[in-house]
Amino acid sequence: MKTVFSGIQPSGALHVGNYVGAIHNWVQMQDQYRCIYCVVDYHAITQDYEVKQMSARVREMALDILALGVDPEKAILFVQSAVPEHTELAWIFGAVTGHGDLERMTQFKDKSASQPDNVNAGLFFYPVPQAADILLYKAELVPVGADQVQHLELARRVARSFNHRWGKVFPECEAKLTATPKVLGLDGKAKMSKSLGNHIPLTSIEDRPLRKLLGRMVTDEKRVTREDPGDPDVCNVFSFHKIFSTADDQAWVRQGCTTAGIGCVDCKGRLAERMVDHFAGYRERRAELLAHPGRVDEILAAGAEKARAIAQRTLAEVRQKLGLWRSR
Ligand code: SF4
Repeated sequence: MKTVFSGIQPSGALHVGNYVGAIHNWVQMQDQYRCIYCVVDYHAITQDYEVKQMSARVREMALDILALGVDPEKAILFVQSAVPEHTELAWIFGAVTGHGDLERMTQFKDKSASQPDNVNAGLFFYPVPQAADILLYKAELVPVGADQVQHLELARRVARSFNHRWGKVFPECEAKLTATPKVLGLDGKAKMSKSLGNHIPLTSIEDRPLRKLLGRMVTDEKRVTREDPGDPDVCNVFSFHKIFSTADDQAWVRQGCTTAGIGCVDCKGRLAERMVDHFAGYRERRAELLAHPGRVDEILAAGAEKARAIAQRTLAEVRQKLGLWRSR
């Protein structure tokens, strides 16, 4: 069974974009691969954040990941900073990573532009601990979106350089390109994001709050009145139907929208019903976890222990290859 590694930054409770773009895929993969999933809190400190909120955000995110169906019996779920071998391997990888390679990373340029007052060295170095995250577990597959392919290429180069210089330890991981649709936010323009405030929190997926949120969702802007026919193919509401509704529902929307047979309120109402159904299991599991305070921490601690056992084996091999001193 191949090993998969994937990480997610601790942004707190999840939204629909996180689910469609990442966690849905995590749940699917845990039955086919040996999956290692990580909340990458060390990566998050390269950006401004509220210190007092960090651990709550990690816990909230882990709670949502588990409620969405990641099963700690099938996959390892842990927090990056609980396994210090990540940072140790990152330092070692720094010695086989070209400065020029890091300079070419487009994400560094984008992030530097988005936080000009905090262009720290960690932002620059970021892809190196990212390579360590993956290779520490000798992961062969990494689910990535197109924007992460460049970082994965760097991880492959790091593995090659290490193996060439010190002897073979690491596999060359492969990108498992995720064919997930890009989920736009309520504004129908930008990618769904908590920081942009255009998101649908998973916790809001209950009938009334969801209908209220969907009421804000931008539709086909050319459909001004109920009598105007619309075009589902340019409407973000229909993109959501394609994810959450049945083929029959989608046909109903297409027919009703293009002939002005249904209004946008009807269309959004049907979407709300389908989304509420889709996340019924999530709500149930979330309530169960909330009823047992401490359970999420227990799962994360057990996950860290399992991850650390693998990480320590890899590090022992690495130190030996490097010829480092150890007491006999
Ligand atoms: Fe969009 Fe539905 Fe309104 Fe058509 S009926 S414009 S698909 S919300």
